[in-house]
Amino acid sequence: MGERLQVTSWTGSHMRTQVAIVGGGPAGSLLSLLLRAAGIDSVVLERRSQAYVLSRIRAGVLEHGTCETLRSIGVGARMDDQGFGHDGVNLAFGGRTVRIDFADLVGRQVMIYGQTEVQHDLYDAMDDRGVTVVDEAEAIALDGLRGDTPTVTFTTGGTTETLECDWIAGCDGYHGVTRQAVPDGVLSTFERVYPFGWLGILSETPPINDELIYAHHPRGFALCSMRHEMLSRYYVQCPADDEPDAWSDDRFWDELRTRLPDTAVANLKTGPSIEKSVTPLRSFVAEPMRHGRLLLAGDAAHIVPPTGAKGLNLAVSDVVYLADALRNWYHDGSTDGVDAYSDTALLRVWKAVRFSWWMTTMMHTFPDADDAFDERIAETELAYLEGSRAAQTAFAENYTGLPYRLPRDAG
Ligand SMILES: Cc1cc2nc3c(=O)[nH]c(=O)nc-3n(C[C@H](O)[C@H](O)[C@H](O)COP(=O)(O)OP(=O)(O)OC[C@H]3O[C@@H](n4cnc5c(N)ncnc54)[C@H](O)[C@@H]3O)c2cc1C
Repeated sequence: MGERLQVTSWTGSHMRTQVAIVGGGPAGSLLSLLLRAAGIDSVVLERRSQAYVLSRIRAGVLEHGTCETLRSIGVGARMDDQGFGHDGVNLAFGGRTVRIDFADLVGRQVMIYGQTEVQHDLYDAMDDRGVTVVDEAEAIALDGLRGDTPTVTFTTGGTTETLECDWIAGCDGYHGVTRQAVPDGVLSTFERVYPFGWLGILSETPPINDELIYAHHPRGFALCSMRHEMLSRYYVQCPADDEPDAWSDDRFWDELRTRLPDTAVANLKTGPSIEKSVTPLRSFVAEPMRHGRLLLAGDAAHIVPPTGAKGLNLAVSDVVYLADALRNWYHDGSTDGVDAYSDTALLRVWKAVRFSWWMTTMMHTFPDADDAFDERIAETELAYLEGSRAAQTAFAENYTGLPYRLPRDAG
C-alpha cells in the first residue's frame, strides 16, 4: 500500500491530500497530529480564525486517557506543568457532601486544564510539525463519498476551492456540514433534549475549593469548577432559553450561594464575571459514524450534556480510533480498521452518553409534573453513592474515563 502515501499538493484552486479534515477544533487538530505521527498527510480546513477558536471557553476536565494521548504525541508538557491533577470530586446534596476518591477507588486522576489551553498546545504543535491548516476556510459541499477520491469544496478569502483526498474526516462539530452531507435515510439519530441549560461564568477569583463541587439542590444544579488558582468557572442550572444578560453578577452569585452547602459558601470569593454564557443541554448520537469515505468524529457525530465532562474527551477517543484505522489502511493495506471504526467508537460513545445522562438526571431538578418522584429517585441515587464503595467505584471509573479498546487490542 506504499503508493497510497503521497504528500499534499496544491495547484491553483485544486488541492490534493490524503486526509481532508473538516474542522480545526480539538478533534480535527489532534487527528492531524496523530496522522502526522503515523506519516499520513492531511489538510485541516477551519471555518474560523485561529484567534476565534482559541477564545472559545468550553470544557475543562481531561480524562486520564486524554492526558495519556496528549503526552504520547508530545503535547502534554504544558498541561503537566500548569494543569491540576485532581484525585476526586465532591457531590453535595441535602446538606451532605460525598467525596468520590478516584485515586483510592481506581488509582487514577483527572486533569483540570481548559479546552482553550489544549487547543493552544495543539495549534503550536501543528505549526511546529508543518501541518497544513487553512484558516477561515468554510467547507460547503462534500462529493464522491462512495468513490475512491472524495472531494471537499470550500470557500476562503472570497474564492471557492476544491480539496481532493482519500478520506474525509468530519470534525466540524454539531452544526457542521459533514454529517449533513450523508444522504437522507442513512443515519439513525438518537436525541434527548433536557428542559434546562447551564448559565456559566468565568471570574478572576480563587476557586472555592481545591476540587470540583457538584451540587444537587431543590432550586437546581450548581457546579464549582476552575481553570487555575486565580480563575474560577461556576455554573447554575437555568431555563434553556434564558439570556445571559438576564443574569446580573449579583443575581448569579446569590443563586450559587443558595444552592451550595454552607461549608463551601464560607470559602466563596466573588468578583466581576469576565465571560457569561448559557449552554442548552442535550444528548445526541448519529449512527453509523462512517459513510463511504467520510468518517465522523467528536461533536459532529454526538453531543453529551456537560455534566459528566465527556464532550472533549470523546472527541479525543474518537480520533485515536480513527487515526489507528487510517494507519491500518495506509500502512497495512487493510480495511479492517476503517470497517470497524464506527462500531468501535460508538461502543465507547454510548457508555459516555449513558454516564452523562445518568449524572444529569441525578444532579438536576426537572421542572415537570413528575418531579416529586424524580426528586426522590435522584436523592436515593446520591444516598446510594454515599453508602456504597461499589457505586463510588463505578462513578470513578466512568468519570476518570473508560479505557480505549482498539480493535487490535481486542484480538
Ligand atoms: C458552547 C459549548 C460549551 C461547552 N462546554 C463544555 C463544558 O463545560 N464541559 C465539557 O466537557 N464540554 C463542553 N463542551 C463540549 C466540548 O467543548 C466539545 O465536545 C468539543 O469542543 C468537541 O470538539 P470537536 O472538535 O468535536 O468540535 P468543536 O470544538 O465544535 O470543533 C469543530 C470545529 O469545526 C469548525 N467548523 C464548523 N463548520 C465548519 C465548516 N463548514 N468548515 C470548516 N470548519 C468548520 C468549527 O469552527 C470548529 O472549530 C461545550 C461545547 C459547546 C459548543
